[in-house]
Amino acid sequence: VDYYLARIDEHRLLNVFTEVYADEARQQAEAIDQKRTEGTAGRLAGMVIGLKDVLSYAGHGLQAGSRILDGFTAQFTATAVQRLLADDAIIIGRQNCDEFAMGSSNENSAFGPVRNAANPERVPGGSSGGSAVAVQAGLCLASIGSDTGGSVRQPAAFCGVVGLKPTYGRISRYGLVAYASSFDCIGPITHTVDDAALLLEIMAGPDDFDSTVSAKPVDTYTQASLPDRPLRIAYLRDGVESEGVAPEIRQATRQRLDALREAGHTVEPVDFSLLSYLLPTYYILTTAEASSNLSRFDGVRYGYRSTGPAVTDLISMYKKSRTEGFGTEVRRRILLGTFALSASYYDAYYTKAQQVRRLIRQETEQVFARYDFLVSPTTPSTAFRLGEKTADPLQMYLADIFTVQANVAGYPAISVPNGTDADGLPIGLQVMAPPFQEGLLLALAKTL
Ligand code: GLN
Repeated sequence: VDYYLARIDEHRLLNVFTEVYADEARQQAEAIDQKRTEGTAGRLAGMVIGLKDVLSYAGHGLQAGSRILDGFTAQFTATAVQRLLADDAIIIGRQNCDEFAMGSSNENSAFGPVRNAANPERVPGGSSGGSAVAVQAGLCLASIGSDTGGSVRQPAAFCGVVGLKPTYGRISRYGLVAYASSFDCIGPITHTVDDAALLLEIMAGPDDFDSTVSAKPVDTYTQASLPDRPLRIAYLRDGVESEGVAPEIRQATRQRLDALREAGHTVEPVDFSLLSYLLPTYYILTTAEASSNLSRFDGVRYGYRSTGPAVTDLISMYKKSRTEGFGTEVRRRILLGTFALSASYYDAYYTKAQQVRRLIRQETEQVFARYDFLVSPTTPSTAFRLGEKTADPLQMYLADIFTVQANVAGYPAISVPNGTDADGLPIGLQVMAPPFQEGLLLALAKTL
């Protein structure tokens, strides 16, 4: 704990932690030491973990990177966090992220941007940027983030660490601040695939507090192995051929695929005909869900309330509190989502996007009827410069072109490091597997 606390102090400029629980972490460590001598310590004893600022931890601040939750304290602990604590993990602090997990660069935070430790002029990715840099820079052993469209995998790729998004419903969302409830997943960010397997094994499984969590028994991911036969691996043709993907990323991806082929596996290209519909579908549905989820932040029940002279009655209090409490990107998405759900446009946008979501799921199923895995780059570029894409939200949204499919379809996917570009910036490789096949996914990822 002292080691990490010292490193957190040395790396303040990266703006990773919004709060550090120094005394509490030391006390936890002492208590666990005691348990160790008694032989009763849990499986995570000594594992120092940071939490993205969207996970409830009773008695601790929770802001989802937003001014609207100024001064808010979590009233209960997220199921996933509860399970980590029960196995004697040490929680060292709360990590900076994009406001309400909306973003791909961690520049949308009320706490200011996070910087990439590989090059502080570059973004760390988002929305779990603080959580990825914390692992990259050795400020904790592992982080727990959330992934709605790529927010664990994309920053993991930009920072050269491992990021796992499980199957939708594998880990309870109870205590996770909701962005888009039918997409949101909690996932670990780690140095190694083994650590990701261990954390998943402990966090996953049924929970009475989340009706969408799966009742399927949890596999022992830490012991998962590959079948004793050649694997059928598909790769996204666009990922290695499209001009929109940086040449060095295409090259690095091809090399990995060649290595898998040489190892005796079947490696074949597939085209995903609905590729250009992924982002529109994702943004219609997630903004619709967000506009509903975020309506609870009204200046009455949580955090920030405007008290300016313009507040003259209840309605103006709602309006001013929300206008001042939410940042630009969050307001943009609430407006977009409210529009998509409005009576005259509901069928044209929301219903249509739901139908396309079904088609995307079906086409994804068709790929996995023939293959065990789907491989692609995690991102089309390496970490971009701070400020480079802030003026153009559509450019920013493109950073998630390869990651959103897993969320739209509900499939598990992992990003593992795949070398660096000429500037020394990390490249990520993404592997996707069928629902609830995290064991296979982790076993293959381990060989990469
Ligand atoms: N970058 C994507 C977005 O802005 C994904 C975010 C996420 O996964 N939480 O919505």
